Amino acid sequence: QAKASGGNTYRFFTQEMNLRISERVTLENNLRRALDSDEIFVHYQPQTDARKQRLVGFEALVRWQHPELGIIPPTRFIPVAEESCLISQIGERVLREACQQNRRWQDMGLPPVVMAVNLSAVQLRQPDLAQRVGAILTETGLDARWLELEITESAFIHDTDRIIDVLQELQAIGIKLSVDDFGTGYSSLGYLKRLPFDRIKIDQSFVRDLPDDADDIAIVRAIIAIAASLQKEVIAEGVEQAIQRDFLLELGCDLMQGYHFGRPADAASAEAMLRTMRR
Ligand code: C2E
Ligand code: MG
Ligand code: MG
Ligand code: MG
Repeated sequence: QAKASGGNTYRFFTQEMNLRISERVTLENNLRRALDSDEIFVHYQPQTDARKQRLVGFEALVRWQHPELGIIPPTRFIPVAEESCLISQIGERVLREACQQNRRWQDMGLPPVVMAVNLSAVQLRQPDLAQRVGAILTETGLDARWLELEITESAFIHDTDRIIDVLQELQAIGIKLSVDDFGTGYSSLGYLKRLPFDRIKIDQSFVRDLPDDADDIAIVRAIIAIAASLQKEVIAEGVEQAIQRDFLLELGCDLMQGYHFGRPADAASAEAMLRTMRR
């Protein structure tokens, strides 16, 4: 069939590719400009101990509000940023703002919580990453123990030895480390043993169909067991319903994040959550 429509197929793909490339270039140029304005900002989503019914932290999630295009989701612009060297600027912007915000809440006398910030695989390849992060902690005055860095599982596939060095440097500063999107990457269980992690985040794709999907139940149960035997904390992502919360509690997973507990929200709303959920 491909042969029959040969020429046309070729032209179609070329046009499609050109479109994608030009869209990407536009996005990249827009992003460059956005970094000089205040179009890029941070939202905060609560992380909760569902058993104790206590807020334990926030995850900082980057947001881009384009004046004409509206909200552009991170899943669309982070990959573009990663391929265009803009990611370290964006990543450090988010890190600085999140640390600053967390310190501000502590200065207001609010109960201290951990702030989790996502780290791109590209940032992980910077040999001076630990120094850069350390400098931002110093600059913002946040104690390292109130910062956690989330690293998506697929980031460990290449350069594992170098990455171990960087992670150990980060941990030596006192920063917590978590594996994001656990179960979706291509990595083996071996890295869990070799990499210095504190926490595993169960990917939301395994949580979505709980408690109906037998395969997801088996996977989630296994992840919780692995985390327990390796003495890592485990947190479930994407908890949207009370029935999912109850089921996870039954399986022994106390820490949760998801719309059921709160959507990502601006600093003022996050502060309100901090006041009500930590009285
Ligand atoms: P992630 O780190 O796994 O973040 C969780 C994503 O799930 C967030 O999407 C969050 O809004 C969404 N989420 C939370 N609770 C629920 C729920 O109950 N149901 C559903 N359906 N979704 C939920 P968001 O903010 O669109 O971010 C998507 C991804 O973009 C993140 O996945 C992360 O990989 C990346 N990202 C976001 N901010 C940053 C950043 O500052 N730096 C880097 N490098 N990546 C970031
Ligand atoms: Mg994350
Ligand atoms: Mg995740
Ligand atoms: Mg994700």
